[in-house]
Amino acid sequence: QTELRNLVVGIDTEVPIAEHKFTTAVNFDNAASTPPFLAVMQEINNFAPWYASVHRGTGYKSILSTQIFEGGRQAIKDFVKADQEKDVVIYTKNTTESINMLAYLLCADVPDHKDQVILTTWMEHLANDLPWRSKFTVDYVDIDNYGRLCLDDLESKLQKYRHRVKLVTVTGASNITGYVNPIHEIAKLAHQYGTKVLIDGAQLVPHIAVDMKPIESPEHIDFLVFSAHKMYAPFGIGVLIGPREFFDRREPVYKGGGDVKLATHQNIFWEDPPAKDEAGSPNVIGVVALTAAIKTLTSIGLERIEAHEISLADYALERLKHLPDIEIYTHSQRGKRKVGIIPFNIRGVHHELTAKILSGEDGIAVRNGLFCAHLYAQRLLNLTPECLDYYSNNPDIPFPGLVRASFGLYNNFLEVDRFIMALQKIIANKSIYIAKYSDS
Ligand code: PMP
Repeated sequence: QTELRNLVVGIDTEVPIAEHKFTTAVNFDNAASTPPFLAVMQEINNFAPWYASVHRGTGYKSILSTQIFEGGRQAIKDFVKADQEKDVVIYTKNTTESINMLAYLLCADVPDHKDQVILTTWMEHLANDLPWRSKFTVDYVDIDNYGRLCLDDLESKLQKYRHRVKLVTVTGASNITGYVNPIHEIAKLAHQYGTKVLIDGAQLVPHIAVDMKPIESPEHIDFLVFSAHKMYAPFGIGVLIGPREFFDRREPVYKGGGDVKLATHQNIFWEDPPAKDEAGSPNVIGVVALTAAIKTLTSIGLERIEAHEISLADYALERLKHLPDIEIYTHSQRGKRKVGIIPFNIRGVHHELTAKILSGEDGIAVRNGLFCAHLYAQRLLNLTPECLDYYSNNPDIPFPGLVRASFGLYNNFLEVDRFIMALQKIIANKSIYIAKYSDS
């Protein structure tokens, strides 16, 4: 039955993941980081003897590294359909660094930062909240009772602040509920009010085909950021994509070698973007890995990946709903897209204990806590400000949170069955487990 389902959605569950070679454990923590594709490991291995500093010298290794490094930008542009002419791909460390860089660059624009408003949302990862706070006035677009973004509230906030809105910044997909936001509708709305939009693509880009659209389009995504380690390549490489003209006009955030044509005591002549915003020796191996991951994702096909992961999540949700004592914090609604993430709790069992048993006894890795999306988790858990004060003042009392199962393209239905069986066991033996682990 499982094999049949996999055939129906068209994903061969023998997808080339190195992790499968070493363990039979189940990894349902793909929203944190994904294991590398075998092709990614091979490409890293092949390239490792040849890496050298880019844009420096005529040595054959430097030439090769530079070609690969620059070629990666084109692969990334093609992957997310960035504007070929007018957008530029800047390599960063990860999504967090990309957003912080943009916050600094935007901040340099305005004399009175606090007069300028950043519209972010209640569902953001802290990476798309904290970088804005010290620099601008930040307001948060509301969510409904299911935790979904309220576009009406976005529009009323755009009306309220009018020309003071510097940027609308929204996650493409939530790292807790998996809800996918209508990024083009949001972009269109933002543009109608004369502002730009940033999409945090960390949870979107590995799972759903993204189309930034040409710059002239009213639905164009002005800025897009994401990290390789959530798309089957290792840590240490991410991107910030945006209009060349935007980066052209601003001083870089990081300054040093590689981003200047010439410096004298009197003057600095900056490189053109993207080099201007990539000071220091860059992560060429990271680019090799990211490019290889994009190649594999493209050859599998994002449509098939989306269909497979969603059918896994729907199957898991359906089975979870039939278990007693399960609280689920995400909902399906016809016509609304999601990525394969399920946040839940077993009533009466602390989230940390559930995660610990799943991992320690059943070899199933999930994550628990607030997932660096603290405001969102607090809303989903209905934690009042009084309640939060209480926990903050009593650090010995375990903080409430959730358990998160998140699927990757290599997961399969048998693994979901294993997960459900493990949860059934925990539910049936709640009091025994609570007593057993109460001392630890
Ligand atoms: N945004 C979202 C939605 C995320 O899920 C994450 C990672 N959990 C980040 C941003 C931050 O990504 P990174 O740690 O790679 O900077």
